[in-house]
Amino acid sequence: MKLLWLDLNSSYAHSSLALPALHAQIANDITIEWCMVSATINENIGNVVKQIYHHQPDIIAATNWLFNHEQLLHIVSRAKALLPQSCVVLGGPEFLGDNEDFLIKNKFVSGVFRGEGEEVFPQWLKVWNHPKQAWKSVTGLCYIDETNQYQDNGIARVMNFSQLISPEKSRFFNWSKPFVQLETTRGCFNTCAFCVSGGEKPVRTIPLEAIRERLNDIHQHGIKNVRVLDRTFNYNNKRAKELLDLFRNYPDICFHLEIHPALLSKELKKELSVLPKGLLHLEAGIQSLKESVLQQSRRIGKLSDALEGLKYLCSLKNMETHADLIAGLPLYHLSEIFEDVHTLAEYGAGEIQLESLKLLPGTEMRRRAKELGIQYSPLPPYEVLQTREISVDELQTAHYLSRLLDGFYNTPTWQSITRTLILENPSFLHEFLNHLVQTDVIDTPLSLERRGLILYDFCKNQYPDYLTQVSIAWIEAGMSLKKAPAERVRTKRQVPPESWEVIYGSYRENLRLCFLPTDEEEHGYWFGFESEIQKIQPVFKATT
Ligand code: SF4
Repeated sequence: MKLLWLDLNSSYAHSSLALPALHAQIANDITIEWCMVSATINENIGNVVKQIYHHQPDIIAATNWLFNHEQLLHIVSRAKALLPQSCVVLGGPEFLGDNEDFLIKNKFVSGVFRGEGEEVFPQWLKVWNHPKQAWKSVTGLCYIDETNQYQDNGIARVMNFSQLISPEKSRFFNWSKPFVQLETTRGCFNTCAFCVSGGEKPVRTIPLEAIRERLNDIHQHGIKNVRVLDRTFNYNNKRAKELLDLFRNYPDICFHLEIHPALLSKELKKELSVLPKGLLHLEAGIQSLKESVLQQSRRIGKLSDALEGLKYLCSLKNMETHADLIAGLPLYHLSEIFEDVHTLAEYGAGEIQLESLKLLPGTEMRRRAKELGIQYSPLPPYEVLQTREISVDELQTAHYLSRLLDGFYNTPTWQSITRTLILENPSFLHEFLNHLVQTDVIDTPLSLERRGLILYDFCKNQYPDYLTQVSIAWIEAGMSLKKAPAERVRTKRQVPPESWEVIYGSYRENLRLCFLPTDEEEHGYWFGFESEIQKIQPVFKATT
């Protein structure tokens, strides 16, 4: 039997773990011939279908999730039309809810799996061509039977999680991406009503020794970034500490972790503070800084503890902490979102991600949408369109605010000046947002330079006291000294003053100097550039 896996990703940077995770469990089964067609959602559909067709598979399998949903169906429907004898099966988060309508509407799909596939997919492969007799016994499988009845076999959960063969053992594991994902835990202790992991119980873990072996393998492949899939990383502070001790053995890897700021013990805080710089990159789940919103979302953890923990994490200089907010959560008003962005900027969050709530299949919030007064898109990505607390227009403003944050606060070059403007001027975010919307640039991709020009121009008109800081950020990013943000910079034949206060670097005569005056009395900033090497950022900075 020939099984074709369609690996459809949203971009080349991403790679799904589903195929290697499943294949690793049955790689030795010689009755299955595995092949794969890999593509991104932006590729020509006809070309992907052609590749599938040439393989002439018996089974076409794929994972369906929010961002590949539409293209995946376009591809597999065409493949099935060309290969009517083939059996199309899908799995993934899109099938965590009720699958009856989907199967009735998409007759070219023979069955879908709800839940975790590593144990049940191999079982199904043994009976794939006996739907009448045997599909009923496969947990998690949903399908329309021969009498046209919808059959729903519940949800599949892997019970022997620690015994699974790791995805890295599969020949389909993709080692060519900038990072790899390492799943150390499955399930989450928390009960957030908007999250698919909120109902993922029980929590199952992999022993530390097995993680060590896998990290050795990952390290040997020269991987520099590992995304640790562990929804409960610091739920158990003792295990978290043990994991951090393990990570220390791989100082050339950066570990990306999700951390719950409300659950940081004193010991763990101490441990985090002494880790080598750059070893960790943290995503702190916060969602909203309003107690009522978190309670309505059934998120466990005291808000005061979460705020204190987040403040602590953001203050650590040896790691970067990103924080996220979710617009569209019930009880969350637009004005509160603005307030929360201000607070996160005050804490010094390394990034502020503002997402829109999506009501995902299988989540409690989707089931209770009506009761909670949430209207949402019936099509992927199921984004919230309006709630009792936030209007259609306001959600659009939140989307624009998210664009502003990504373009300015979340961009290292513009972060410091944007943070200062937010913290020192209560109206800045609103005014700058209006400006970006009115000039019709908010939804356009803008280069780093263009963003600098826009910010400089805006400050010139509205916040002239901050022009010098924008100019400094511009110069330090190595951008052209011939453009507006550097208009006050003197570049020709600059000689060092009698004294200056060095901020970084050391002065040598062969540095090319430029001077940014801040007043008429020769106060200002000096920058030195290497004239021989092609480095465009200054290597020296001083002030007079
Ligand atoms: S949002 Fe995070 S903490 Fe909440 S259920 Fe999902 S994974 Fe767990």
